[in-house]
Amino acid sequence: MDASALDDDKDESSPVLPSRRRTDPNDSVRVLKPRRAAPADAVRPTRAEVNLAALRHNLRVIARHAGRAKVWPVLKADGYGHGAPAVARTLERAGADGFCVALLEEAVELRDAGVRAPILVMGGYYGGAYEEIVGRGVVPVVYDVSHLEGLARASRQAGHPVDAHLKIDTGMARLGVRMRDLESFAAELARFPEIRISGLMTHLACAEAAAGSEGSDFTAEQVALFEEASTRLARAGVSPQVRHVANSAAVLRGEALFDAVRPGIAIFGVSPLASGGAHELRPAMRVRSEIVDLRTIEAGESVGYDALFRAARPTRIATLSMGYADGLSRHLSNRGQVIVRGVRAPIVGAVSMDMSMIDVTDVPGVGLHDEVTVLGSQEGLSSRDGRDALSAEEIAGQAGTIAWEVLTSISRRVPRFYREP
Ligand SMILES: *Cc1c(COP(=O)(O)O)cnc(C)c1O
Repeated sequence: MDASALDDDKDESSPVLPSRRRTDPNDSVRVLKPRRAAPADAVRPTRAEVNLAALRHNLRVIARHAGRAKVWPVLKADGYGHGAPAVARTLERAGADGFCVALLEEAVELRDAGVRAPILVMGGYYGGAYEEIVGRGVVPVVYDVSHLEGLARASRQAGHPVDAHLKIDTGMARLGVRMRDLESFAAELARFPEIRISGLMTHLACAEAAAGSEGSDFTAEQVALFEEASTRLARAGVSPQVRHVANSAAVLRGEALFDAVRPGIAIFGVSPLASGGAHELRPAMRVRSEIVDLRTIEAGESVGYDALFRAARPTRIATLSMGYADGLSRHLSNRGQVIVRGVRAPIVGAVSMDMSMIDVTDVPGVGLHDEVTVLGSQEGLSSRDGRDALSAEEIAGQAGTIAWEVLTSISRRVPRFYREP
């Protein structure tokens, strides 16, 4: 693929350091803006290509499954590694009703990128930056009296009431008000008329589990507890208009839809379900590099750190300029695969920090600068059986992790190129 055919994300590509100075008087807190590798600066041929049309397509698929529920894509962790600002702008134009992020820093990044849709900050850690929350018009998730105190103070300073969503712990034991504390929390809330609890949420622990499994019983229990929490809170005078529970897996199953849904990984075209329901999703990211070195080693010679691979025959070894610091997991050493000229080539030896080696002995016509597909399918390649592709799920299986980690591991050192379609 020709780089000139790609639309780089201009806002993210400023080669100037440090990031722009904050002049808005509302910006009382400095929020770190991690620097993303800029396409314009890219020298080495390793990059992630994000297909914006695929994101819009996936939003439509999810909206269909969500029925009447609003769709709030989850763009934490830099939009699951796809570059949150560009993803948010694309989805906002495509009609997303709002966004969810984990960190206040992530919400600020989206506001700085011009995103005006509602943004829910779910992480629960605000470090005292409540003026920033109010000033930026983002909605925090609350479940602790310290949240209420900080938010109420910022609300009085701003001179207007503020919205917050209340989180209930129905089984994650991570964040949220415990079931036994619902009434006492409602009583605390009554002390803070500045705060409007406009949403009620919980998070599912086992939404991916197959129907009929223990995990699916657990989901049913969580949903029942959430319903119970709603009823008890309403009795205590807390009646949020918007209730939301579903992550990608739940939406794709049509479960726990309530008033809004919070799909993350499905937006990026990866189905969290082992089977069924989501064949229509399109993976939005592909990661590619190139062969930067090619050599033949003799039988008995080794490759890479710790001589983890030893050739059993004369072997063509190609070097890619992508390593574990770019998100190619070290767990793929001697196990993973990439695609070169439509052929799968095994990763041999230990993946190193900036490079890795592959065995291309069986790739006909292989040459220096050949494209290497690390995630996704090879562009411009047609085969009778359809294009081979390396899915995030497959890579996760080889690396002993989950697709979420594969996507979010593609590091900031890898420039993102955006394209349509
Ligand atoms: C990450 C997250 C989601 C999205 O999960 P996916 O499985 O990626 O769809 C939804 N809600 C909360 C609270 C989350 O942390």
